[in-house]
Amino acid sequence: MTAFQREQVYRNYINGEWVKAASGETEPSINPANRKEVVGYVPVSGIEDLNRAVAAAKAAGRAWRRLTGAERGNVLYKAANVLERRADEVAEALTREMGKTLAEAKGETMRGVAILRYYAGEGMRKIGDVIPSTDSEALMFTTRVPLGVVGVIAPWNFPVAIPIWKTAPALIYGNTVVLKPAQETAVTAAKIMECFEEAGIPAGVLNLVCGRGSVIGSALAEHPDVNGITFTGSNEVGKRVGAAALGRGAKYQLEMGGKNPIIIAADADLDLAVEATISGGLKSTGQKCTATSRVIVERKVYEAFKEKLLSQIREIRLGDGMSSESWMGPCANEGQLETVLNYIQKGQDEGAVLLTGGKRADGPGLEEGFYVQPTVFEGVEPHMSIAREEIFGPVLALIAVDSLEEAIETANDSDFGLSASIYTQNVGAMLFFIRDMDAGLVRINAETAGVELQAPFGGMKMSSSHSREQGQAAIEFFTSIKTVFVKS
Ligand code: NAP
Repeated sequence: MTAFQREQVYRNYINGEWVKAASGETEPSINPANRKEVVGYVPVSGIEDLNRAVAAAKAAGRAWRRLTGAERGNVLYKAANVLERRADEVAEALTREMGKTLAEAKGETMRGVAILRYYAGEGMRKIGDVIPSTDSEALMFTTRVPLGVVGVIAPWNFPVAIPIWKTAPALIYGNTVVLKPAQETAVTAAKIMECFEEAGIPAGVLNLVCGRGSVIGSALAEHPDVNGITFTGSNEVGKRVGAAALGRGAKYQLEMGGKNPIIIAADADLDLAVEATISGGLKSTGQKCTATSRVIVERKVYEAFKEKLLSQIREIRLGDGMSSESWMGPCANEGQLETVLNYIQKGQDEGAVLLTGGKRADGPGLEEGFYVQPTVFEGVEPHMSIAREEIFGPVLALIAVDSLEEAIETANDSDFGLSASIYTQNVGAMLFFIRDMDAGLVRINAETAGVELQAPFGGMKMSSSHSREQGQAAIEFFTSIKTVFVKS
């Protein structure tokens, strides 16, 4: 019997203690590969729980911000070591709760370790500049100070990496944190919290409150004692979170959806382009904000590319992410499965041609899971829903174009602007793409879904509030600048 079959009951982590929701209420976190399996019971918290967490974070902030960056970094280094030691267990929780394959879950967990180490080091980096004063007897400089209490609202698709890439920079720059994970993946969030606890994070500096987004997430965004909100999730919710923060003068950062294009130029290496389209579009069952969604192919190579793509997609092995035989797991939850199936129906109703997939996947071992077949459409027109709206599932829309100009114009014809790729061997085409493509991540001969933790991450247009996460760019959001003038 595995740990998960024992159906553990998880708690909130508030002011250094594991506590039940005030109401005592819990709900099951379900394995999307097998709806009969409960991964754990997680708290359904209320406003009272959230208020306690924010008060604890506020109180703990005074001492935490007085520590040196190196001292705070030491806690992050220790948390990284604990997470590395427990990586298999955390990755297993992630796969059980969210459905991605164990290999992807392990990769994500190790990324969490690397992010913690990266930001631990950032505690030693400069946090200001000396600016020449026009007064010869004065010293003028800037220094960066923490915002105070930061609210982190995270989605379920990267339940280890996203909470860590928001929490680690928040902490290193002296903020305290209240984390509201996606309720779908609250068990994984609790495991991350255990790593920080073992690393000796002081009470109140990092708090976990599990509960519904409409209750805990919105109250966190509206809370008068929360000075900054960093959110990753859907566009619809992001807009509400941003408006609530703006309305009370809090700083906010929103990372939202994408409708990411890959362009296959006529001179592309088609084998590599097919590999990148499949990996970028279908890994994690297409549930990445940077997932490839629109595949824009120059007509000269369209048929050849299509045949290679379809023959490989038909070979994809679906199954429980815990099995090394599975290449693609289920959708993360039943609602997501329904959303994907609705988009597939809409695609057909609006006149796109279904080339492969298109149905809920069944067969031995799949009956109790939220599986959908990897799906490819062609004949997709720019006005169609499957060309414009984020599906967040394993659905690719093939679009044939006559030139590179038309390809980039088509790629830019979107409300989103997160990630975009081109496959070409022509330097001129690369430079054209780099200059004209409206996306925060512009990638040449690489899939849309690659992200390196030390580089700025974020989108343009409706994909983002335009600040950047990750790397040294994170300091911009998680601190305020003070300009200091000292007269002798
Ligand atoms: P979601 O429904 O917007 O939820 C995101 C988070 O917001 C969850 O913690 C959710 O809590 C919470 N929430 C829900 N309603 C809220 C409200 N009224 N006020 C405040 N918070 C609320 O998104 P999701 O379905 O979890 O994630 C998928 C979306 O995330 C996709 O659109 C995807 O593109 C986007 N995403 C973007 C990036 C990026 O960096 N650009 C990365 C990953 C994912 P509950 O779970 O408890 O409802």
